Amino acid sequence: MKKSWRCFVCNDIHYGTKPPEVCPTCGVRHAYVEISTEEAQKIRLPSSAPFTKDDFRRAITDFASRNAFRVNADAERVETLLEGIFANEANHGLKYCPCRLSTKDFAEDLKIICPCNFLIHETYAGQEKGECWCGLFVKR
Ligand code: SF4
Ligand SMILES: [Zn+2]
Repeated sequence: MKKSWRCFVCNDIHYGTKPPEVCPTCGVRHAYVEISTEEAQKIRLPSSAPFTKDDFRRAITDFASRNAFRVNADAERVETLLEGIFANEANHGLKYCPCRLSTKDFAEDLKIICPCNFLIHETYAGQEKGECWCGLFVKR
């Protein structure tokens, strides 16, 4: 079944049965996370489908399994973050980061759709126990 995928580094949208191994736009490997077609539509594509918190949890777990990080083992923290992400989607249209503020500039705000490119965050890069800004993803 074809699904929508978004590169977490550059927000490239791919529609297909599988995400590309290497993002054709930014060249990063294993950088695609499954997203709802509704989210894809807001960024680029037509059509819509529901995407629940559990779908999102499954998608980020699968995404992390292809990378050098994992979803935080602190389930309560993850739940709080996911609630924030879904509240942002309900209130602001996209799954924006629960810990950062919208700039009101759509192109700029694309950088804070979860998962964002946290590999460049100072909380992650160069840290032995690095994590994304909010601690949703942690280095293995
Ligand atoms: S910092 Fe973490 S929780 Fe926030 S958008 Fe990036 S990946 Fe998601
Ligand atoms: Zn990319």
